Amino acid sequence: MEFNYNLPVNILFGCDKINELGRETAKYGKKALIVTGKRSSKESGLLEKSVELLANEGIDGVIFNEVTRNPLVSTVHQGAEIAKKENCDVVVALGGGSIMDAAKAIALIAENGGDAVEYMYGRKSSDKALPLVLVPTTCGTGSEGNCYAVLTDGETGDKKSIRSAAIYGKVSIVDPKLMMTMPKRVRAAVIFDALAHSMEAYVTKKRTPMSDAYAAYAMKLIADNGVPAVEDETGDTVVWEKITLASTLAGMAIGASGCALPHAMEHPASGIKNIVHGEGLAALTPAIVEASWEGDPERYATISVLLGGNSALDCADRVRAFIKRIGLDRGLSELGIEESDIPWMAENAFKVSLGNIENHPVVFDKKALEEIYRKSM
Ligand SMILES: [Zn+2]
Repeated sequence: MEFNYNLPVNILFGCDKINELGRETAKYGKKALIVTGKRSSKESGLLEKSVELLANEGIDGVIFNEVTRNPLVSTVHQGAEIAKKENCDVVVALGGGSIMDAAKAIALIAENGGDAVEYMYGRKSSDKALPLVLVPTTCGTGSEGNCYAVLTDGETGDKKSIRSAAIYGKVSIVDPKLMMTMPKRVRAAVIFDALAHSMEAYVTKKRTPMSDAYAAYAMKLIADNGVPAVEDETGDTVVWEKITLASTLAGMAIGASGCALPHAMEHPASGIKNIVHGEGLAALTPAIVEASWEGDPERYATISVLLGGNSALDCADRVRAFIKRIGLDRGLSELGIEESDIPWMAENAFKVSLGNIENHPVVFDKKALEEIYRKSM
């Protein structure tokens, strides 16, 4: 056995840990670019509270609230410009995966300049970025526990991650209470994203003992708490702690192992039609499991059993049943994908995510990918 493992992020986990934001950020800077979205952190009061927590420690906050779903390279460049112009020395992300990923890329470009696309394709790299403080408000991406930043190039539709040790958070403040304000449909999508991360990490060729441990535990937590979290009306702290932990662990798992075919096939779909990442994964994963379980029957059997099944044979059905219970049972066509998009998506998956395609237990060709897209419509 042989593996490398290095996870240089201080994870502060627990209810009300948000109150540490000012003290933690003060270790890294005096002027923070606060990266967030237009609405949710404002409506929940988190933005105002964060500005206050920072101010209490003498930190000025410059708000950049232009980040949208499937964040664009152009938005990253815009944010980096502002960080430079305002002389920000630390970047604070308040939001879900899109926001954290944009913040990570902004921290990289603000420090090094240049075009984020060059970093996406690994043509440029750097070991420096502005220090990052990550505060997730959705429990899906797990970006707080890895060094990935997924961006979309608006010009080509390519959706691809920057992977750089420079963009680990210095600190990630993971507060389960911040997840409780998510609307139901958002909850279902992010929880399925976390399940996909853990399932994919678990079957990848590049899995390690660390990714196995994180992924197996994350899957169990999601299998047991995913439906209660989606249905929760009263702010059940115990459920949200478990589902939030699962999401962070799943993000750490893919950080150690990489993703597999579902992410390789979903990114072209959300790249071309701006669909919700977790919903795209829910549309695609059952057909992918159906086509793949024979490549690693033992692993797919474990996943199936965690989801209430018996063997690898019924794994796809168990995944389908879970998706139905959280209300995400919609095909790609309902999400806005058309039959005519399929050849481009299959082509683009190979262009953008060859690594994840090859990391899957069965390596399919372009024709087979088109077939899976068709079955997922
Ligand atoms: Zn994902």
